[in-house]
Amino acid sequence: MRHESLPPDVVAEPPAGGEPASSSGPLPGGQPAAAAPLIDRYGRRVSYIRLSITDRCDFRCNYCMAEEMEFLPRAQVLTLEECLRVASTFVELGVSKVRITGGEPLVRHDVVWLLQRLARLPGLRELVLTTNGSQLERFAAELRAAGVRRINISLDTLQPGRFRQITRVGDLARVLRGLDAAQAAGFERLKINTVMIRRVNDDELVDLVDFAVGRGIDISFIEQMPLGDVGHARDERFFGSDEALARLQTRHLLVPSAESSGGPARYWRIPGSQTRVGFISPHSHNFCDSCNRVRITARGELYPCLGNNGAVPLLPLLRAHPIDQQPLRAAIIQGMGIKARGHDFANQMGSPQVLRFMSMSGG
Ligand code: SAM
Ligand code: SF4
Repeated sequence: MRHESLPPDVVAEPPAGGEPASSSGPLPGGQPAAAAPLIDRYGRRVSYIRLSITDRCDFRCNYCMAEEMEFLPRAQVLTLEECLRVASTFVELGVSKVRITGGEPLVRHDVVWLLQRLARLPGLRELVLTTNGSQLERFAAELRAAGVRRINISLDTLQPGRFRQITRVGDLARVLRGLDAAQAAGFERLKINTVMIRRVNDDELVDLVDFAVGRGIDISFIEQMPLGDVGHARDERFFGSDEALARLQTRHLLVPSAESSGGPARYWRIPGSQTRVGFISPHSHNFCDSCNRVRITARGELYPCLGNNGAVPLLPLLRAHPIDQQPLRAAIIQGMGIKARGHDFANQMGSPQVLRFMSMSGG
């Protein structure tokens, strides 16, 4: 492993004696400021970050990337030490869940080094990861040993030819071997994420649920979001959650569940199975009122909302202040002030107003 110890600028643990995480003093009610300073203008508490550790990927899913992508020069991407510093600062400020994503996080060299250190952060309760599964056969056991608790694996089809068509380059058999390895590694939960695309995979929704039930894992169906300019009219391909639910109900008894993974998915249970079926419906069932998350891009931009363009650049601060944490904390707290009330994807299907690719912001 290239990195053996943290460089001096990395704050992985609060200093002995408990340096206050915020200079803003106690909150009303005597609660220390460090406990919950990340509250936005609408009273929503941010307790969850999604950290994109690379914009690169070994797939080119056609709803996510253009065929020819220009990736960031390495100098503009957060180093792993900077990723750790950003995440640990958020955790000091009360964040308890970190999802590592990308691009494809498992193509980032030394990703396990980062995960091992994130898992040890005091105050972090959940370390989770989203992956396309292509590298899981190799990494699953290491990820589990590093402290990753749950994994989401993206899988839009069970048909090899269709898989190749959607991902442009991916090999379904390899992803399924990755899923096997993840099941053998003993994660607390595994979930398949399926983006629904009309006339591409909408005829497979029942098969995908049957597959999840057969393996005793969860599945969430995601409405396609108009992010990045992927070069085709997405409104024709949009497939909504309500139609998906109705289609699944023709084959399965689905019982609404109050369970939540702390995310925007609404869940249904299939009696007699382990499987939860979720729907993530940014178009048809707006979930912004309960939003508890922000995103950090591979370039170190703090995006308080996936569906808006407002961002706070953290990278210049990280590099200008390698020791002093206060500017970084102040910028993160400032980011809460620009968190929008909600996204508005509804009018954006034909021409995206959010020009970032999903691979930049992290899914
Ligand atoms: N490469 C990893 C993967 O595919 O799981 C992690 C990053 S990917 C951007 C995260 C999730 O975003 C995936 O489940 C992917 O299907 C989803 N996604 C990408 N573009 C999307 C879009 N335009 N609308 C909805 N979901 C999208
Ligand atoms: Fe890569 Fe994930 Fe985007 Fe597909 S969805 S191109 S696997 S980042």
